[in-house]
This record gives sequence, C-alpha cells and structure tokens, in this order.
Amino acid sequence: MKVLAILYNGFNAAVKEPRLLGTVENKLGIDKWLASRGHEFIVSLVSFRWYLEFSFDAEVVITTPFHPGYLTRELMEKAKNLKICITAGVGSDHIDLNAAVDHKIQVLEVTGSNVVSVAEHVVMNILTLVRNFVPAHEMIERGDWQVSDIARNAFDLEGKVVGTIGAGRIGYRVLQRLVPFDCKEHLYYDYAKLPVEREQAIKARRVEDIEEFVSQCDVVTVNAPLHEGTRGLINEKLLSKFKPGAWLVNTARGAICDTDAVAAALKSGQLRGYAGDVWNVQPAPKDHPWRTMKNPLGGGNGMTPHYSGTTLDAQARYAAGTKSILENYFEGREQEPANVIVGHGAWATKAYGQR
Ligand code: NAD
Repeated sequence: MKVLAILYNGFNAAVKEPRLLGTVENKLGIDKWLASRGHEFIVSLVSFRWYLEFSFDAEVVITTPFHPGYLTRELMEKAKNLKICITAGVGSDHIDLNAAVDHKIQVLEVTGSNVVSVAEHVVMNILTLVRNFVPAHEMIERGDWQVSDIARNAFDLEGKVVGTIGAGRIGYRVLQRLVPFDCKEHLYYDYAKLPVEREQAIKARRVEDIEEFVSQCDVVTVNAPLHEGTRGLINEKLLSKFKPGAWLVNTARGAICDTDAVAAALKSGQLRGYAGDVWNVQPAPKDHPWRTMKNPLGGGNGMTPHYSGTTLDAQARYAAGTKSILENYFEGREQEPANVIVGHGAWATKAYGQR
C-alpha cells in the first residue's frame, strides 16, 4: 500500500532531537515499521512536490495541523486511490471535510493526543496577558527597569470571569486547570451542554447567547474546531460586545477570528490582549498583522508559531496514535469511534458543527 505523509522540515533540530517525530527527518517514527510490512512510505514536504506525489496513487495520506498540507476538493478529485486521511494531531480543518464526505474518503484524528498540551498553553497565555509578562521580559532584555510602566497594565487572574467558546476536551481542561485560581466565574458557550456533575466539577455556567457570553467575560478562550459555524465568529460586531479591555486567547484556529478586526480591537484598547498560536494561513506571512499588533500601551501580544499541541510529549502520543490508526486500517479493524471525523461518506462527529 502507498502511504504519503506531508510533514515539515525540522532541519538540524530534528537531527539532534529524534523525539521531533512530526518532521520530515524523523517520519513519525513509523518508516521502518511500514517498510517491514511491505508498504511504500513517501514523506514529503509541504510543497509543490506533494501535489505531484498526491496526484499519483497514495491510498493513505497523513498530515499535521502545525504546518498543514491543505487538502482541497480539487486535490481529492485527482487522488483516485485515496481512502483515508489521518491527522497526526487534533483539528482536521485543513482538509475539505465536506469534499471528503462526498468522495467517501475517511478522515481520522488522534483525538485527545495533545489536549493537555494545549490546555496548559492556554493557561499560560491567559496568565501571560493578564500579568503583562511579555513587555516586562522585553524591558529586562533591553536593560531597562521601570516597574510602573509594566504594573500599570498588570492584573491578577483571581476574581476575573473566564469563559471558553467550546467546552470539549481542551475547553474543559482549561477551566479544570483554572479552578485553584479562584476566578469570579467560569462560563462556557457550546451547543453541547455538559452534564451537571461535569459543570459542577469545573464550576462552570453555560451561557447560550454568544453576545451575552462575551459581554460577561474578562477573559475569552476559544476552544472549538473551525467549521462553517465558527469561521469568522469573532468579528468586528462580536468584538464590540466584549467587555472593554478584555483578553482573548485563541489556540483553536486562526480563521475563527477576523484578522483585521482583532488587530483593530487591540489597537483601540477594546481588547487589552490577544494571544495564541494559530493563524489563518500557516506559516503566517512575515507581514501578518498579528505578529506585531499592540495595545495602546505597547503590549498585549502573546502570539507564537503553532506549537502548543506539538510538545515532545504530544508528538510521542500523536505518532503512536497515527500508528494505531494505520494498524487498524491495515488489519480491517474498527477504528476508535472518537478518532473518526468523517466515516464512509458521512460525518461521524458532532464537534464540527450542528448538522
Ligand atoms: P472537542 O471535539 O473535544 O471539543 C470541541 C468542542 O467545541 C465541542 O464540545 C463542540 O460542541 C464545541 N463547538 C463546536 N462548534 C462550536 C460552536 N460553533 N460554538 C461553540 N462550541 C462549539 O475538541 P478539542 O480536542 O477540545 O479540540 C478543539 C479544537 O482545538 C480542535 O478542533 C483544533 O482546532 C484545536 N486544537 C489546536 C491545537 C494547537 O496545537 N493549537 C491542538 C489541538 C487542537
């Protein structure tokens, strides 16, 4: 069988650190195993080369969300042998999922593989913004020492209202991790209501109207997949309903937020800070406004490249999960239901929008 993996170049870092499994160099750690089973394994960079490979006859395609190979309807039409796409990680919006349904191509993710990694990053982002960490550190590197310039925009998380858009695996874990911070309230906005005991365990209250939800939050964190119902959800109109000076953290997907509207809201002070690791196109262009946008006090930017879900611990888990999905596929075994996003010609998850 022909298996194609679209990975990114790790260069020297990947040579020196074999646990960087998601790279072209380290091949998810499955190259020898696939060869021993007689499969042809092609590892390709996210580049024109992959289109060429793709238009041939791979039956299995593996991609990652971190430096994604965008799998469009047009490409699926060319890939006559393609039966299954595996996302080594969580979040398959780089694949045209409606086209996968139409072409009866299965789409699976390694569900849960990096949800703790992301939840920890979200908590870090929230603290980084609320406590005004980045400008404070930059001041130290510059050789300066002017405490008041930092303290004038630094707060405690205690007593604040924190809300998550999406209370699935990551959103839930974020609120769970915030319990000891004694926030004033934990809110969530999700069409899937949590069972009461699960709500109580994380002290969360559901708000069904999104404008009402954002108007009550000091901190909003986005933890829903990107789909028709979330693309551009946080736009100029919704940002105007946020509490003035709120903080927004988005490690879900860049395209859930309108790029220019977020940059403008930060510039005006409507948002006090924006942090996350996801961008509407990845890699983000050098002149992407989110790289350098600032609040009126010159801070409030906590952006990084997409790495929250690809710590070395997470890479071990999603590489092992990819192998197990492949094993099930080769042996004709049932897949773990939680991993299936698109089954044989039908959506298999309720997380990518209400259908
Ligand atoms: P999940 O399926 O466990 O939870 C998603 C939740 O979002 C579900 O409860 C769903 O009902 C809810 N939801 C869907 N549409 C919604 C909407 N319109 N409004 C409100 N809620 C909505 O998924 P998860 O494991 O928590 O991951 C969530 C997303 O996080 C992924 O789809 C991916 O895009 C992103 N992610 C990012 C990274 C990273 O490295 N930055 C890593 C993993 C996942």
